[in-house]
Amino acid sequence: MPIEREELPVDILFVGAGPACLTSALHLKKQLTAMGREDVEIAVIEKAQTVGSHILSGAVVDPRPLVELLGEDWRDSGIPVESWVDQEEVRHLSTTGALRIPVPPMLKNHGFPVISLSEMVTWLKDRCEEAEVMVFEGFPGHQFLHDAKGHIAGVRTMDKGLDASGNPGPGFEPGADISAKCTVLGEGVRGSLTRQLIDEQKLQGRNPQIYGTGGKELWKLPEGRFPAGKVLHTSGWPLSSTQYGGSWIYGLSGDRVSIGFVTALDAQQPWTDPWENFQRWKQHPFIAEILEGGEILKAGAKCLPEGGYWSRPRPWGNGFLIIGDAGSNLNVSRLKGVHTSMKTGLLAAETLLEAIRKDDFSAESLCSYDERFNNSWLKQELWRVRNYRAEFQGRGFWSGAIRAGIKYVLGGIGKEFIPLKADHDEMLKIHHAEPRPEPLEYDGEKLIDKVTQVYHSGSVHSEHQPSHLKVADTDLCISRCKEEYGNPCQHFCPANVYEIVDDDSGQEKLQINHSNCVHCKTCDILDPYQVITWTVPSDAGGPKYLGL
Ligand code: SF4
Repeated sequence: MPIEREELPVDILFVGAGPACLTSALHLKKQLTAMGREDVEIAVIEKAQTVGSHILSGAVVDPRPLVELLGEDWRDSGIPVESWVDQEEVRHLSTTGALRIPVPPMLKNHGFPVISLSEMVTWLKDRCEEAEVMVFEGFPGHQFLHDAKGHIAGVRTMDKGLDASGNPGPGFEPGADISAKCTVLGEGVRGSLTRQLIDEQKLQGRNPQIYGTGGKELWKLPEGRFPAGKVLHTSGWPLSSTQYGGSWIYGLSGDRVSIGFVTALDAQQPWTDPWENFQRWKQHPFIAEILEGGEILKAGAKCLPEGGYWSRPRPWGNGFLIIGDAGSNLNVSRLKGVHTSMKTGLLAAETLLEAIRKDDFSAESLCSYDERFNNSWLKQELWRVRNYRAEFQGRGFWSGAIRAGIKYVLGGIGKEFIPLKADHDEMLKIHHAEPRPEPLEYDGEKLIDKVTQVYHSGSVHSEHQPSHLKVADTDLCISRCKEEYGNPCQHFCPANVYEIVDDDSGQEKLQINHSNCVHCKTCDILDPYQVITWTVPSDAGGPKYLGL
């Protein structure tokens, strides 16, 4: 029997309640209201049960888009700020040393706000609702709707209450069809709808996207240990000199700190384990001294898109725009993506305003986004570091840092384009790889294993639903992957989702503990055979990062 679905027509649909979409929706609504166009319906859908629950970032924010969205007095707007940067320090770690180095220009953050991104988007959501933007929480976008011409015409949300076989179970609720004149994809890193659209419409930029996986923890420290407003970044250990990545410690109010460590996924070794790298880093004497006597309050993990300018997909087409991290707008040289995401939201809002005036949401109309981008400070910022990550890939840390640093200081001179290889293409087969370091011993308090990380993330998924992690060929795991790559999914997943276990007949098989998943997307990216696809869960489950 055909399933009856609720139909909800709107004018503009934003997918993903992150900084890009919420900024865009609010800016657009304010301008429409000022023009007397209260008739234009704007909706935002979010896959998490609560806006902010699936958002994880450092984060020190460059406030330029806050000024553009909220005005010069944005500091008085009530936007939640943890502290203001007033001390900056950069260290390069060796096995036991911590060499202090000058703060490079791209890491200068003096006077910038330190925020919890989950709290900031919660605040933006409230401003959107006050402005009469509809925000639907717990509505994961599942598939696109198309009009008679085949153009994107909205999104069908995920069916809820599916049983483990994917059939309607008790409490089944069919997903709704939300039709829209324009669908704005701001799903964040490796969004499932965006990925599908980029593949189908061949939108990928000149370079493939490359990623890093970051682990983050919120700590309470002894009084006065690390002042609010102090920002510390480290490079080096425990990464080798050929690997890219680094850490942060940001001082927050109430003797709390945000700490994190990012491992680039082009690290080549099939046993690369971003979560273990993070925990290992906390053992360094310089870091351990800072954390001594503290306790972990929350934890999580997330990927970030590091490819930059040349990895940007074409961000417009018939009936759609792509913004934020989904559109590869993060500036990895500054470890910043919040301000760039917000700026793409502002540019999209201006593009949509013109499209609404003309009632034209075709590719010919929405391509004016490119002109706005090209005339913006964002283009200048991303162009200057257009080859930043490519300078590191295959060259090693110091050579990359020197080349990228010189080019930055000289305003982005040098080759127009340097190619990148996708992370999974960089992975070495096990017999070419370096030996794996001794596994770390976790103490469960300061050094937490992956299962404890899941506990601290608050991640929950119903066991009675189909796994949202689709592995196209699980025989491959035993027949080829074990021998060729040593089953890297057991290492790179920060939530212990993938395990090779004995089946009942004494053979090995892949076990997928999907309920542990913290939605970081590493498996979808780094699997060497590209047979893992991350999809949205039926129960809108996942982590609870509010406050992290
Ligand atoms: Fe991340 Fe994939 Fe593991 Fe989920 S299953 S936590 S998306 S690596």
